[in-house]
Amino acid sequence: MRPETKALLEKDRNTVFHPSTHLKQYAHGEMPGRVIASGKGIRITDSEGIELIDGFAGLYCVNIGYGREEMAEAIYEQAKKLAYYHTYVGHTNEALVTLSDRLINMAPGMSKVYYGMSGSDANETQLKIVWYYNNARGKPEKKKIISRDRGYHGSSVASGSLTGLPLFHAHFDLPIERIKHTMAPYYYRREDSGMTEPEFAQHCADELEKMILAEGPDTVAAMIAEPVLGTGGIVPPPEGYWAAIRKVLDKYDVLLIADEVVCGFGRIGSDFGSIYYDMKPDLITVAKGLTSAYQPLSGVMVGHRVWEVLEDGTDTWGAIGHGYTYSGHPLGAAAALCNLDIIERENLTQNAATTGEYLQMKMKAAFADHPLIGDSRGVGLLHALEFSPDRAHRSHFDPSLKVGPQVAAACLEQGLIARAMPHGDILGFAPPLVVTPNEVDDIVAKAKVAVDKVMDKLVTSGQWQPK
Ligand code: PLP
Repeated sequence: MRPETKALLEKDRNTVFHPSTHLKQYAHGEMPGRVIASGKGIRITDSEGIELIDGFAGLYCVNIGYGREEMAEAIYEQAKKLAYYHTYVGHTNEALVTLSDRLINMAPGMSKVYYGMSGSDANETQLKIVWYYNNARGKPEKKKIISRDRGYHGSSVASGSLTGLPLFHAHFDLPIERIKHTMAPYYYRREDSGMTEPEFAQHCADELEKMILAEGPDTVAAMIAEPVLGTGGIVPPPEGYWAAIRKVLDKYDVLLIADEVVCGFGRIGSDFGSIYYDMKPDLITVAKGLTSAYQPLSGVMVGHRVWEVLEDGTDTWGAIGHGYTYSGHPLGAAAALCNLDIIERENLTQNAATTGEYLQMKMKAAFADHPLIGDSRGVGLLHALEFSPDRAHRSHFDPSLKVGPQVAAACLEQGLIARAMPHGDILGFAPPLVVTPNEVDDIVAKAKVAVDKVMDKLVTSGQWQPK
């Protein structure tokens, strides 16, 4: 290791509190660190000069790829002109107005955009909007929010409560009150193996209805959901799911918040996942792909029927008591505008559709019959490999074997970043939207070598025999 890298990592271990990290092992040097130095296209390079294909686009956010000078220039030009002014009480800036107009035109049914810095804070805002909405409608009891097992909506107090993964609740005393979780539309892990996809979709909607009735429809305000479950395992919905869910929500006057933090801006080959699946949401959360992570920026898009009530609420109560110092930050807005220009000019949403289809086809060809893989699934440029020791019975590996992380580590040895998802033995792929078919070939070939290596290791160590 170069002395400069060693010194940096030592300082890092002494000073940085890293997210999602075993704090003690890292601080004591018992797990590796990596200094990321630069990036270009779908690749990043570390301080040792090692180049890696980023098969997960950072945290599925660097959609236009790394090293775009045009983005750096747009941010620089905006910073020279106006780096910051707040947007309270009617103050605005040109980049923000242009961006908002563009977003509203992209998202059918939406009226206004409220800005934050992260997906987590945007989902916090969503909850406050929904609660305010029902107070303003004279329904103060209608406040519960239904999220889903395996949903991911952030890790702050409220958004972490919406998240349906035990890791994000345990030892933090979450979830908070008023937040409930219904079943995940996880067809591969269905309990009744006889159900068809549409039957299973209806079963999920029936379970949602049961929950609403058990809680009392007058107490349930909204459902929040990702169009495609992301961090919970990259799980596209079963056929007919969104139509069945929307029907139940409409029946009980429950709003639908589409969390588009991952799906928004092209990831699955459509501007929004909610358009792709015809979800007709009342509210939309965006972040990540909005700026391709060149600047931190998130948005809450508010649909017409909610907006009208918010307006009326302020008529009664005065100015709305919600605001962040950085709401509508001009640097974020300038980055988002340039990012949307690039997506449009380079047809990246279309590329996500066509190259995404190619990715799905290649992954299935390589893994659908692989003895270590229980499920190979995805949509657009999102794909998951789920490992199972016994494909026929969809059983789980002993978690202590850490099969998912082992394959992710083996991918790294091949020069490929794939993400071991935080729950279950699932390996996720979400390359930047600029990925080409040749690069997809490379990603799949590297993943295949990695999966085979781990399989050999499990077999030779006597930990597993192919069924
Ligand atoms: N919503 C979804 C669907 C996400 O995937 C994420 C992050 O991965 C979030 C919200 C939270 O975003 P952030 O990490 O920017 O707070």
